[in-house]
Amino acid sequence: MEFTMLIYLIIFFIGAIFGSFFNVVGLRLPEKESLILPRSHCRSCKVSLTAFELVPIISFITFKGRCRTCQTKISLLYPLMEIMTGALFVLAVIKIGLSWELLISLSFISLLIIITVSDLMYKVILNNVLLLFLIFFILLRHTLVPLDPWWDASVAAITGFLLLLLLVVLSKGGMGGGDIKLYGVLGFVLGTSNLFLSLLIASIIGTIVALIGMLIKKWDRKTIVPFGPFIAIGSISAYFFGEELLTFYYQWILSVYYSL
Ligand SMILES: [Zn+2]
Repeated sequence: MEFTMLIYLIIFFIGAIFGSFFNVVGLRLPEKESLILPRSHCRSCKVSLTAFELVPIISFITFKGRCRTCQTKISLLYPLMEIMTGALFVLAVIKIGLSWELLISLSFISLLIIITVSDLMYKVILNNVLLLFLIFFILLRHTLVPLDPWWDASVAAITGFLLLLLLVVLSKGGMGGGDIKLYGVLGFVLGTSNLFLSLLIASIIGTIVALIGMLIKKWDRKTIVPFGPFIAIGSISAYFFGEELLTFYYQWILSVYYSL
């Protein structure tokens, strides 16, 4: 038991290191900066970070969320994304186990973390990031890890793309071209039924957050709320818990039906 916990802890920490790289990707690519040079630096005073400051989560806690040199507050988004990536990597290993599908699930998490960062910070979902993952998912879904039936992945991708296109046209704003293309990519991972489920969850959570925003922060209909993070939450819930959620949903429908 303790050995298993140790393995999970190691996977969590490896995930957090990946997460800190995804922060860099999500923050630098939209600004067309190189991923390697300059080295990671404070975005306020530009001082390069030391090796210890690059350690995810722990360094944030040690320096109480401030830059060691200029004391500027560091966004909570960084450690949050590192923790999320670590936790989701552990979830993937537990739920999927050692198989080729694990490769898809870890890449799927990586994609969603990157687009969450870039969508929150710049309100963009990057084409080159989408394209890279798209090629990877198409290859894997047509070779090592097909869905059942094998064409479900492509059908879901096309459905997702067209469905979002329709939603964007109907909603006139809110969602954008990046969200449409993102759903085209996610279709290959999710398959049709989980695709619909993910969109349902994303819309419910998005609506709740928008309502809270209108009440508390005085958002109006013109406030642009990036939809990417909601797509990420919806997709991850559907991918990992789709069967459980659908079973729960059908049981609830049945119980309502029989109580009438
Ligand atoms: Zn600084």
